[in-house]
Amino acid sequence: MKFFYLALVAFLLSGCMGKAPITNRDQILLMSPSEEIALGTQGYAAFLKTAKLSTDRVQVARVRSIGQKIAIAANKPNYKWEFNVVDDKQINAFCMPGGKVVVYTGILDLVKNDDQLATIMSHEVAHALARHGAERMSHQKISSGVQLLGNLILGQTAPQYTNTFNTAYGYGTKYGVMLPYSRSHEYEADEIGVHLMYKAGYNIQEAVNFWKIMKAMKGNAPTEFLSTHPNDDNRILKIAQTIKKIEKK
Ligand SMILES: [Zn+2]
Repeated sequence: MKFFYLALVAFLLSGCMGKAPITNRDQILLMSPSEEIALGTQGYAAFLKTAKLSTDRVQVARVRSIGQKIAIAANKPNYKWEFNVVDDKQINAFCMPGGKVVVYTGILDLVKNDDQLATIMSHEVAHALARHGAERMSHQKISSGVQLLGNLILGQTAPQYTNTFNTAYGYGTKYGVMLPYSRSHEYEADEIGVHLMYKAGYNIQEAVNFWKIMKAMKGNAPTEFLSTHPNDDNRILKIAQTIKKIEKK
């Protein structure tokens, strides 16, 4: 019976394999690119309704010109790129699937030059290119499917263990799968991001300088850039390794 379930799961997943760009990491994606882009476009429209767009023309033009170069480097014909600046002191930025990029004024205040701004934007674009959002949603679907299956089997064989199973399962997926997983996504976005920056003509050494600034900022507002990110020293080390690899080519 166990083998039957495993074979069934393997069969269901076989059509959903993908590969991340640059790193070539295997991925399970239970969502098509067009579904994902539609979700991103919806999410972006909803975000814009509540956001306060910046009226600083110089900064908006700066973000858009850097964005255009990164978009060309990303080479995604099915993306409809948009770049906006939001007037918000949070140290944050994001890119929705489909190429909707938002930079917060809080992070613009921190960068020392265009190369550092390109570091942030490339990192966010890399999350979208590598389809990290779709991957996370796919894993959540799978883990709730496995949990359901576990409950079905336990319900028939040992119902007294159902609660224990659910507690252990929730704990295991949170600390064993989801957290390390988001950390590996961060490293991957850094690696792909540095490649994009390089292709777009930016000074990739500034990626290291930018993350040193972020490291010094630790302890402030919990945002994408401070809380979910991996240990800063490891991250800076890995970025330096990527730069070395690129420069050797
Ligand atoms: Zn990130």
